[in-house]
Amino acid sequence: MATVFPTDQVIVVGGGLAGVSACNTVIENGGKTVLIDKSSFCGGNSTKATSGINGAATRTQKEKGIDDSTDLFTKDTLKGGAKKPEIVKVLCENSGRDVEWLMDAFNLDLSLVARLGGHSAPRTHRGKERFPGMTITYALIQMVEKVAEMTDKARIITKARATKLLTGSEGSVVGLVYEKGGIEFQEHGPVILCTGGFGADFTANSLLSKYRPDLMHLPTTNGEHCTGDGIKMGEAIGAKSIDLEWVQVHPTGLVKPDDADAKIKFLAAEALRGVGGLILDKEGNRFANELGRRDYVTGEMWKSKPPFRLVLNKAASDEIIWHCKHYTGRGVMKYYESGEALAKDMGVALATLEQSHELHYQAAKKTEKDPDGGSFPAYPSGKSWDEASGKTGSGKKFYHNIIPGSAVKTQPFYVAIITPVIHYCMGGLEINEEGGVMGSSGVIKGLYCAGEVAGGVHGNNRLGGNSLLDCVVFGRVTGVAATKYILGDDMKKVDLKELTKGGLSGEVKASKYSGGSYEDNMNKTAGDAKAKAADAKVEVKWPLAPSTHEGIPGSPYLLVAGGRSDQPSRRACFEDNLGAIMFGVLAACGVFAFVSINYLTPQP
Ligand SMILES: Cc1cc2nc3c(=O)[nH]c(=O)nc-3n(C[C@H](O)[C@H](O)[C@H](O)COP(=O)(O)OP(=O)(O)OC[C@H]3O[C@@H](n4cnc5c(N)ncnc54)[C@H](O)[C@@H]3O)c2cc1C
Repeated sequence: MATVFPTDQVIVVGGGLAGVSACNTVIENGGKTVLIDKSSFCGGNSTKATSGINGAATRTQKEKGIDDSTDLFTKDTLKGGAKKPEIVKVLCENSGRDVEWLMDAFNLDLSLVARLGGHSAPRTHRGKERFPGMTITYALIQMVEKVAEMTDKARIITKARATKLLTGSEGSVVGLVYEKGGIEFQEHGPVILCTGGFGADFTANSLLSKYRPDLMHLPTTNGEHCTGDGIKMGEAIGAKSIDLEWVQVHPTGLVKPDDADAKIKFLAAEALRGVGGLILDKEGNRFANELGRRDYVTGEMWKSKPPFRLVLNKAASDEIIWHCKHYTGRGVMKYYESGEALAKDMGVALATLEQSHELHYQAAKKTEKDPDGGSFPAYPSGKSWDEASGKTGSGKKFYHNIIPGSAVKTQPFYVAIITPVIHYCMGGLEINEEGGVMGSSGVIKGLYCAGEVAGGVHGNNRLGGNSLLDCVVFGRVTGVAATKYILGDDMKKVDLKELTKGGLSGEVKASKYSGGSYEDNMNKTAGDAKAKAADAKVEVKWPLAPSTHEGIPGSPYLLVAGGRSDQPSRRACFEDNLGAIMFGVLAACGVFAFVSINYLTPQP
C-alpha cells in the first residue's frame, strides 16, 4: 500500500553512478525523478573509475570459463574488511544481475575481467577501451537525459546545490531545498542522497579534519565536489553516521614528475597490478604483495624506501595498453625500451631488477606446482612461496604475466612513480538493506542513500571494484524502495529502450550533462574558472512561486503552484514576517499598558 503523497517523483541528489542508477531504476518502475547536481556536469568521481565493476557469476565470466560464485564473492568482501553480512549479501548477490543490467539496458561493453587485490577470482569487469567508470556513468546519464528530453518522467538540474532536507510531522523526509544561482528552490518527494564522499574537503571544519586530521597533508584522487554534503544534511535531521574515521588511502596515486606536489592526483588503476604490475622500492626490490588489501600495501609503503615504482612488463602492459598509453600521454607514466634503460633511470644495478623479477618468477612457478605449499601465510588464505611478501604476513598467491630475470634486460616496460593518496570514504550515513537511512529510532521514512555517501557497506577497507558495484546495486535498491514508497501497488515495469524509442546506440563519449574529462579540470584549470563564471549568470526563466504555500491538510507536503517545483522556493511568506509582526504586537501592548496605567486608571 503506497503512502499517499501529493507527489509522484523521487528526488535524487548527485549525478554520479549511484544517482543515475537510482534515476533509471525509478523510471523503470513507473515513477518520475528529478536529478539535482551541484556541479556543471553530472558524473562525479564515478567517471574517474579506472579498473571496473565487480560481478560474480556473470555472462562474461562464464564465457571465459571463470569459476566464481556469489558465495565466494561474499567471503572475499567480508575478509576484505566489510562488517555487516546482511548488507554484503545485498551487494554480492545482486552483483551478477546488475552488471548484466548495465550490459543489456545500456548496451555497455563489459567483456574484459581482471583480478584485483583481495579477490579469489577475476571478477572486475571493464570494456576494451576508455575508463569503465566514464563509459558506464556517461551511458546512464545519457539515458536519463533522453528520458527527460522525450517524456515528463525525468528532469535534470545541474549547478544546483542541495542544502537542506525538509521533514514532515513525524520526522519523515518530504523534500529538500537547493540553491542555484544564488536563489533557493524546493523540490518535494522522498530523497535519495547520492552525493559521494568527503575525500577532497581540506577545509578546517571538514569531516576529514574532524575524523582524520592525520591525513590532511596527503594528496587525493577525489574531485572537489567531495565535501560530504549528504552526510551533513542527513546528520542535521538526526540521521546516524557510521565508520567516518575509515578513510581509504590508496597505494597507487600517480606522481607527475614535473608537478610532484599536486594535491589532486591521477590514480593508477588497480587493474595495473591485476595484470601483473610489480611494486619496487627506491632500490629496485619488491617489498609487498601487490594484490594485498589497499590498507596493507599502503602500510608496507610507509615502512619502505620511496620513491616507489609500479612496473609493468610487456605482457602485462599489452593486456591493459589503452590505460598505459593514456597515462603516458598525461605524463604520469613512462615507457622504457628495455629493463636496462629502466635500471639506469632508477640509478640501480640491472642485476637488482633481474633478481626481483627472478624471485617473483620462481615463487609463481612453485605456486603452479604446489599451490597449497610454501612457508609463508598467504592473502586471502593458504600458503605462499613468495618471500618478499610472505615476510609481511600477507604472501602473494596469484601471479599473472610473469617473466624470469633473464628477460628483464631487453624487455620493454611501462613504469609509473606512485605514492599513497586519499581515495575513498568507507564511512557515511548508516543504511539498512533497502538503502533506507537510519535515525536514532529506526529508519527515517522518505530518506535513502546510495554510493559513497552510504556508510557501513565496506567496513574498514573497500575492495577494488566494489564501489561502482555498490553504486549500481544500492542505486537500484533505493530506486525501487523510494518508488514503492510513493506508488505502492501502482508501480509498473517500464522498458527504458521502449520509452526512449531505441535507447542508447553506440558509445557515449559525452552529452549535454556528462561533458568534458575530469582530468582536464584537475588542480584548478581554466575549465573550472569558466564553469564558475557560467554559474554566476544563471537566468531564472520560470515564474516565481506564490508568496505563501498552501499546505495540504494531513500531509507533510507543500503544494507548489503550477505543478512545477523547480521554482524559487518562495518569496517572503507569513512565517518569515512573524518576528516583525510579534514585535509590533508587543510594542502596541506596551503602549496600551502605559496609557492604561498612567491615564485610564483612577488616581488615588
Ligand atoms: C580516481 C578514482 C578511481 C576509482 N576507480 C574505481 C574502480 O575502478 N572501481 C570502483 O568500484 N570504484 C572506483 N573508484 C571509487 C568510485 O569511483 C567512487 O567511489 C564512486 O564512483 C562514487 O560514486 P557516487 O555516485 O557515490 O559519487 P560521485 O560519483 O562522486 O557523485 C557524486 C555527485 O554528487 C554531486 N553532489 C555532491 N554534493 C551535492 C550537493 N550538495 N547537491 C547536489 N549535488 C551534489 C556531485 O557534484 C557529484 O556529481 C574510484 C575513485 C576514484 C576517485
